[in-house]
Amino acid sequence: MLKNKKFYIIIVLLLLCSFSAIKIINKKEIPVLNYHEINNDKHSPLAVTTDEFTAQMKYLKEHNYNSITPDQLLDYMQKGKPLPDNPVLITFDDGYVDNYTNAYPVLKQYGLNATIFLISHYIGWQGYLTWPEINEMQNNNITFEGHTYDHPQLSKVKDDNELKRQLHDSKIDLQNHLSYQVDYLAYPYGDYDQHVISLVKEYGYRAAFTVNLGDDAASDDVYTLNRVPVFQIRKHTFFKFWLNLHFPYLMRAKQLLHRPIF
Ligand SMILES: [Zn+2]
Repeated sequence: MLKNKKFYIIIVLLLLCSFSAIKIINKKEIPVLNYHEINNDKHSPLAVTTDEFTAQMKYLKEHNYNSITPDQLLDYMQKGKPLPDNPVLITFDDGYVDNYTNAYPVLKQYGLNATIFLISHYIGWQGYLTWPEINEMQNNNITFEGHTYDHPQLSKVKDDNELKRQLHDSKIDLQNHLSYQVDYLAYPYGDYDQHVISLVKEYGYRAAFTVNLGDDAASDDVYTLNRVPVFQIRKHTFFKFWLNLHFPYLMRAKQLLHRPIF
């Protein structure tokens, strides 16, 4: 009798484990790739070589990934709108000029769209995108969103007027040039705290992206969205890109031991 009882307990536990496993596998997780500079010449920790970027975009195309916009991601998360198969959101931070000269031709070649988070005050500076370049890309499947006025560590800014300039005024400036509403923010350095989040909401952003490694699921907090960073040129290999894309949580565990530079 006791033996039978143990047998049933084991069966119930096995069933519970199987259901949990199915639930985890079925939970739709969307990778948000995060690039900065795409450049064969610069040996910046933020750069991925143009050759490697090309190989990664080719991989996405050949494996039937469909690039999506932040609106599609949020419509899925908040309204349950369906996404295409194998969705991926490709993002770039800071608005480097090589996003136009090196990344944009590759994205066009593979029919992929992308989102670039702009530092409003740096537009037109040496090494950064100009408005004519932004406007050309805007007409060819590239979306532009906010990355503050001049890229401070937001949790360290203690003056609310300064936070308003970073989060609100920069948003208005971008909107005036882009002629659409800027709804998304990428936190500089992935840095935020609860006060920053409350202002991000107050100034009308629909969601905000961190550099916390991981994919995004419908149940996640839209003001602390995960991304999959793809940079650190010297350590970067295609295999690492592949691992990050498919197993972000495994890479997150590894990253706890080695804090990234961004
Ligand atoms: Zn940045």
